[in-house]
Amino acid sequence: MSRNGYEIVIGLEVHAELSTKTKIFCSCSTEFGGEPNTHTCPICMAMPGTLPVLNEKVVEYAVKAGLATNCEISRNSKNDRKNYFYPDLPKSYQISQFDKPLCEHGYIEIDTNDGKKQIRLTRIHIEEDAGKLNHDEFGGGSLVDLNRAGVPLIEIVSEPDLRSAEEAEQYLRKLKSILEYIEVSDCKMQEGSLRADVNVSVRKLGDTKFGTRTEMKNMNSFRSIVRAIDYEVDRQIDILEDGGKIEQETLRWDDVSGKTFSMRDKEDAQDYRYFPDPDLVAIRLSEEYIQSIKDNLPELPESRKERYINEYKLSEKDAKTITNSKYLSDLFEGALKICGNAKAVNNLIISDISRILNEKELEPEGIPFTAEHLAELVSLIDKNIISSSIAKKVLEELFENPKAPSKIIEEKGWIQISDEGAIKEVVLKVLEANAQSVADYKAGKDKALGFLVGQAMKETKGKANPKMLNKMFIEELSK
Ligand code: ADP
Ligand code: MG
Ligand code: ZN
Repeated sequence: MSRNGYEIVIGLEVHAELSTKTKIFCSCSTEFGGEPNTHTCPICMAMPGTLPVLNEKVVEYAVKAGLATNCEISRNSKNDRKNYFYPDLPKSYQISQFDKPLCEHGYIEIDTNDGKKQIRLTRIHIEEDAGKLNHDEFGGGSLVDLNRAGVPLIEIVSEPDLRSAEEAEQYLRKLKSILEYIEVSDCKMQEGSLRADVNVSVRKLGDTKFGTRTEMKNMNSFRSIVRAIDYEVDRQIDILEDGGKIEQETLRWDDVSGKTFSMRDKEDAQDYRYFPDPDLVAIRLSEEYIQSIKDNLPELPESRKERYINEYKLSEKDAKTITNSKYLSDLFEGALKICGNAKAVNNLIISDISRILNEKELEPEGIPFTAEHLAELVSLIDKNIISSSIAKKVLEELFENPKAPSKIIEEKGWIQISDEGAIKEVVLKVLEANAQSVADYKAGKDKALGFLVGQAMKETKGKANPKMLNKMFIEELSK
């Protein structure tokens, strides 16, 4: 996509925390949270003389990720030290991979307005996470928490193939869902399990050389990423239009002011003085090992989508929305297994749950209720115990205070009125109060019926059985 005669160029470096039980080079727990410095040992606290041992699961998860993103898997790989000083990195180097990453030359397919597009992956490598600094609001100092130090990461680097903020978002959503499906990361963005460094540059349409890029570090929400790219593109174009030059630098996006700020000049690979880690052996992978991981890869989003279209007759668009998120897709399948009504579950997810997620700015993994809850809600509608308008209210309530829908409607008194006598009473009352609509209906204005039904619904706070209402009104009006 272009803006004011400029083309936008974006490449992402995505860090995903792997969901292994233990850290990459020691047997400490990777669990999120916990009292500061309780998930630590001499190795991840960087005591001199300790020796790291590579966690085999980390290699397995990275290879899984590589195979799921069409990468070539290196048979020979190794770990390197990337030297830099940071207070939460007590070794003063990070163990990462430099010239021999585990996976290379992959791609991910995204949907754009012009059809499918392949975004190439340069590489996927394994590395360790750093600790965390807690800035003390009162004492003015900073406290180091090393629980996260040594938590395994994969870094997934894309080629600069993305051409708009929308494409960047699509790419990241697709990548996130793949990692969720193969269960190598929980991808919880709020907890920092998935974060992206966003590289942005612009160039005049038709130019063949890329412009100078800036890099926004550690972005962990889709909304901020889109806003940050839009802001950064405008900033760069303004500078170029004024005859200025873009400095290659690392930026920090501030969500509150909606601006980027300079953090430091961009360092190059040579600044890190990478060298092979002498404490770790080379990583050699056999054909059988790689093949067995390939054979055991779980179903990926694309194939689930096809299955939903064929087996459950979902529309392409609905199937895509649901399978885009493993959480949503598991919710769909879980509820379906219990209630057997694919169409109804699909409708609730697509129209109501998606809307509420949007309003609350929540990702599907933030849904607080279970597949059992959703299935019960569908059965309540199917059995005519509640109307679909009450179902919407139950869903709102499920987001606030998740419990069995039957309990909710009982406590709130939301059970549908299907008693003939009670329905008739309301119908007569509404007819009496709306003489004009009655006259309109009799004069052939069918729309008036809808109005009358609406009034009866209002009268019963949405609880009347709409089918019975309709029937009763027509009966009474034809008398
Ligand atoms: P590093 O940031 O570690 O120095 P690279 O130089 O390989 O690594 O680039 C990192 C990321 O920046 C990649 O995702 C790449 O696609 C992206 N990138 C490189 N050049 C540009 C550019 N001119 N505009 C936008 N993104 C770019
Ligand atoms: Mg970078
Ligand atoms: Zn440890």
